[in-house]
Amino acid sequence: MNTPAHSRSWVTSANGHADFPLQNLPLGVFSRGDSARRGGVAIGDSIFDLQAALAAGFFNGAARGAAEAASRDQLNDFFALGAHGRRALRSELLHLLDEHSPQRARLQASSKLLLHPMSECQLHMPARVGDYTDFYVGIHHAMNVGKLFRPDNPLLPNYKYVPIAYHGRASTLCVSGSPVKRPDGQTLPPDQDVPQFGPCKRLDYELEMGVWVGPGNPDGEPIGIADAQQHIAGLCLLNDWSARDLQAWEYQPLGPFLSKSFATTLSPWVVTAEALAPFRCPQPARPEGDPQPLPYLLDEADQQGGALDIELEVLLLTRQMKAQGLPAQVLARSNTLNMYWTVAQMLTHHSVNGCKLQPGDLFGTGTLSGPQPGQFGSLLEMTEGGKHTVELPSGEVRRFLEDGDEVILRARCQREGQVSIGFGECRGVVVG
Ligand code: MN
Repeated sequence: MNTPAHSRSWVTSANGHADFPLQNLPLGVFSRGDSARRGGVAIGDSIFDLQAALAAGFFNGAARGAAEAASRDQLNDFFALGAHGRRALRSELLHLLDEHSPQRARLQASSKLLLHPMSECQLHMPARVGDYTDFYVGIHHAMNVGKLFRPDNPLLPNYKYVPIAYHGRASTLCVSGSPVKRPDGQTLPPDQDVPQFGPCKRLDYELEMGVWVGPGNPDGEPIGIADAQQHIAGLCLLNDWSARDLQAWEYQPLGPFLSKSFATTLSPWVVTAEALAPFRCPQPARPEGDPQPLPYLLDEADQQGGALDIELEVLLLTRQMKAQGLPAQVLARSNTLNMYWTVAQMLTHHSVNGCKLQPGDLFGTGTLSGPQPGQFGSLLEMTEGGKHTVELPSGEVRRFLEDGDEVILRARCQREGQVSIGFGECRGVVVG
């Protein structure tokens, strides 16, 4: 079906919805009350129940197979289908949920079964993550943090050649709303030679995007840069909680370990590559004097349309602010255009040695800070390693996170002539 950019839905809350208009249709896994976990699609304030829609016979042909894969308690089988399956499902959903759908009367007659108020549902991890890798492609974050640790030499010489990453921990990925326990660990107090053990005192967040891997590759067969887009199922928000005092002591020479592996929070909705397509744009030109990517990472189509223009926001809501009825305070605004490497370059590089990527693997982009104050995606950068404080409307100040603090990430795509879409929220409260 031909879908004009401004189509409206008979699910009236979708029209003008900040995150989930008809043009978005992100996928997730939900339950309502005691019912089993199953796949659904966010539309306005509701979740469209794929299992119920299948049972009522609303899907046929290729869309039926894709809807079945997306209706399970994990989206891995759906991610494995790749772009063909995603497009078949999206096309049918656009058709069914359009205000002019020939099926509208039948759908509305069953709307109690097909649509669930999102506020009455629980959202779960969208997929079983086999492997999680956190990149470091936010160049301003790399510069800002590099300056703190190595004032004379903020960016190491490999940065402009290699999309840097480390292997993270899949077992502690959790979905928005899960509490985050302050970790214990070893830290080296200032001016001491011997570490101490105890609760992290410099707990931080990192504003990142998550990338869900689609079909992936057989062991030993790298994914070429020209094919990489086909293996990217969709994106979400990702908070890479970081224990800075643990990190400073443990990270040399091999990088992050326990300072990161205690928790990583994801937003529950997978915004598909197709929904993001209108917001693609050229990869920003590299600064004068920077090297070109090596040929295996350089593709003209990727350079022309492989970047994404997604506006990002991080907010803080303390326990006291909640008690006073104050709204969450915006700490920073940034954009995915601060990525030095495209998502396709990250994926190609990850597989170039033959490493097998599988449906439902997850990448973090790295912290997506901008170059200016007000655009920093972590407290480490905002307070220059705890030298300054952040002032809050409650009169409180923060260098790092306190127990009871809630961190909220948001993301939104806007472009002239397009209906805006959003990612929903990625929230987590720190508990002691
Ligand atoms: Mn990170």
